[in-house]
Amino acid sequence: MSSINESADVIVIGSGIGGLTAAALLQERGISTLVFEKNRYPGGSCSSFQREGYRFDAGASVFYGFGDNSTSGTLNLHTRIFRKLGVEVRTIPDPIQIHYHLPNGFSVPVYYDQHTFLDTLIARFPHEAEGIKSFYRELTEVYEILSSMPAGSLEDVSHLLSVGIANPLNTFALALKSFRSMGKTARRYIHDEELLHFIDIEAYSWAVQDAVATPLVNAGICLADRHFGGINYPVGGSGAIPEALCKGIEKFGGRIRYQSEVTEILVDNGEARGVRLADGTEYYAKAVISNATVWDTFNRLITDERYRVDEKKFLRATSWFQLFLGVDASVIPEGFHVHHILVDDWKSYNKTGGTIYFSAPTILDPSLAPPGKHIVHAFVTGEVDEWQHLERGSSSYLAAKEALAATVISRTERILPGLSKAVELKVLATPLTHERYLNRFKGSYGPLLKSGQNILQKPQNTTPIKNLFAAGDSTFPGQGVIAVTYSGVSCASYIARKFGKPLDELL
Ligand SMILES: Cc1cc2nc3c(=O)[nH]c(=O)nc-3n(C[C@H](O)[C@H](O)[C@H](O)COP(=O)(O)OP(=O)(O)OC[C@H]3O[C@@H](n4cnc5c(N)ncnc54)[C@H](O)[C@@H]3O)c2cc1C
Repeated sequence: MSSINESADVIVIGSGIGGLTAAALLQERGISTLVFEKNRYPGGSCSSFQREGYRFDAGASVFYGFGDNSTSGTLNLHTRIFRKLGVEVRTIPDPIQIHYHLPNGFSVPVYYDQHTFLDTLIARFPHEAEGIKSFYRELTEVYEILSSMPAGSLEDVSHLLSVGIANPLNTFALALKSFRSMGKTARRYIHDEELLHFIDIEAYSWAVQDAVATPLVNAGICLADRHFGGINYPVGGSGAIPEALCKGIEKFGGRIRYQSEVTEILVDNGEARGVRLADGTEYYAKAVISNATVWDTFNRLITDERYRVDEKKFLRATSWFQLFLGVDASVIPEGFHVHHILVDDWKSYNKTGGTIYFSAPTILDPSLAPPGKHIVHAFVTGEVDEWQHLERGSSSYLAAKEALAATVISRTERILPGLSKAVELKVLATPLTHERYLNRFKGSYGPLLKSGQNILQKPQNTTPIKNLFAAGDSTFPGQGVIAVTYSGVSCASYIARKFGKPLDELL
């Protein structure tokens, strides 16, 4: 690799969890990194922001990957990475992943204990007892295979060979399962329509797709690990994760520059050389990692038309309309669970705004709100196109936000009576906010595979441009904090080997 006026070995565009994880592991290995972040603080969709004494999760609030090694194989990547960096993130175990409130009075909490969860499901569908057990057993099998293998890049032949030689049967089984869909697998065992709807919402809750479109392998992580590593909430909120990664980067000599937006990736003769910031300054490096989406990277930051990515190459997931509410604590009853999903009608669960996602993280960590208050964080899917005709900040834009927020709050009163009267602070974010704040094309949750596409058809860490790499939810395995952490690990592991300093296995 040649360089011009080098400023770091590796420049990282964006301090999302994918970018920070890659930077931290490279820096720990002695490969110098420089991270540019357009916002004033790190984490992107996993950041925290403060308002009037509240500390809100900007997006993510259900966290995997903090299990301890003895119970959850290699999938507890946060535990392993923070141990490697020598940085502590304290967490609080969450006994319920999600409490679903579905049509026809169907209400089911997903308990950490898998038997309790399955028994609850079987109590509603006794005629499907065997199907339920068989389907969830399949997911556990996928989980067990994945958690027996160390994380690494699917593009790294040495990694694949070492995993394949150490685990030949598991590697073969995983390769076969990578072609299967979660929904089609469910339909082998389950026939009850309402139960199949439940399997769909289990997929939709994190993949924003129905179960047929969702790869079995991804389901094996999200729907099984919750019963092994479990769901754990970081003390201090979602932002505690990126803040700890930044601490790790800086501890080993890496640099993070905030309020530094990259406007162009400098490419010379098919090779990435560095970046140009909004103020015109240029920085050079041996490699560049983009933590931006695949569309933003290739259709905005790269000027060469030959690298354009057609919007239709992947399904573009919708964006979000989010409500960050500060509420009087008395509205949250004793024993109320932290995370909820509400569906009023199966016909519209996957339409814009159809499903309500809801969390009250102060039940676990009261320090996120002033005394006597709770946080209620609710969101529904939304599309930029529905908001674009409104000028941001205009009275009609504010009125549209208030109107939609009022309907979401009123629908939520089904599980939290009196919510509308308990609201004392309301911060609302539309798809336009997501687009602008996170620099994400149309504020999208990211690219999704089309039904029938294999998980290996997701973009990986290498790109058509030499020395330009990618980490984050546009790359394999996809959306979710633990998934983008995996992508950061695999990106760092590929680059570190290229630099002749392979990463140690994460123990
Ligand atoms: C509403 C919502 C709820 C969610 N809930 C959960 C959940 O409960 N559990 C879960 O696991 N996951 C959840 N997710 C998904 C998860 O948060 C994301 O998949 C993950 O955080 C994305 O990480 P990323 O590395 O791809 O980067 P992003 O979070 O997209 O961050 C990218 C960063 O790069 C910066 N950036 C982009 N372009 C530039 C540029 N040109 N120059 C400088 N900086 C730039 C951005 O400002 C941003 O900080 C949720 C997401 C949302 C939106």
